[in-house]
Amino acid sequence: MIFKEFIKQYGTDEDCLRKIFVIRYGFKPYCVGCKTRRKFFKKTNRSVYECMKGHQVSPLTGTIFTKSSTPLRYWFYTIWLMSATRGGISAKQIERELGVTYKTAWRMMKQIRILMGKREGSLLKGIVEVDESFWNGAAKNRRYVANYNEKPQKIIMGMVEREGNVIMKKIETTGRPALMEQVEKYIDKKALVMHDQWPAYTNLHKLGYAHYGIDHGKTYVSGKAHTNNIEGLWGRIKPGIKGVYRKVSSKYIESYMDEYCFRYNNRKTPDQMLEILLNQI
Ligand SMILES: [Zn+2]
Repeated sequence: MIFKEFIKQYGTDEDCLRKIFVIRYGFKPYCVGCKTRRKFFKKTNRSVYECMKGHQVSPLTGTIFTKSSTPLRYWFYTIWLMSATRGGISAKQIERELGVTYKTAWRMMKQIRILMGKREGSLLKGIVEVDESFWNGAAKNRRYVANYNEKPQKIIMGMVEREGNVIMKKIETTGRPALMEQVEKYIDKKALVMHDQWPAYTNLHKLGYAHYGIDHGKTYVSGKAHTNNIEGLWGRIKPGIKGVYRKVSSKYIESYMDEYCFRYNNRKTPDQMLEILLNQI
């Protein structure tokens, strides 16, 4: 959706409120008071809709907008920008564009990332590539399973379907238990898991998975046996996140990942991202 269309649809707070009303209740919802379907009309100067008999509903109750004093159209604009901007957008830029404080911009984005992180429970299927990415600044500094006593590290485990969806989760070690926990939580048992030769993956068949360890020492890609997709994702996401956020704290790293995964998982239908997010509210 281009900016002109966006503004036409959601240029005013009333447009946005109307949208939320329709998402939550439909066009002519059932009125609990009248015990029948009614048309509802917005009360002037209030975020409340009312039927002809005066029964009221407030569409914002229970949404991320309830306690916010930021205008709805600013929220919608931020949601739209975050979903439409391929490489992500900084709170600084929202601050500049909307003239809100940095804190407000940052808080809105944090809430929107929560919407982006909500996913339907479907497991990854088919060929699934797995890999871990270190965010401590160090190169791959994984040690075999013996790292129980090490201090937690900033690591992201990535799992991606060929041509499909990606899931990224924060883990603290690359020991077997940590990796297996993620695999079992997010990957279908019928999947074929592609991984590198990290020993923690060698027991995957004991959990019921078909799997294949790729030897990166070999320079060629043999048919379907590769982890090019997940490696390509690291190559794009790492510079992207570091460029936009500079410092990535351990507390928020997974929510940044949620944002990237959301855009990636909806890349084939970019026009629907706004609608999907609005439906999550
Ligand atoms: Zn009524």
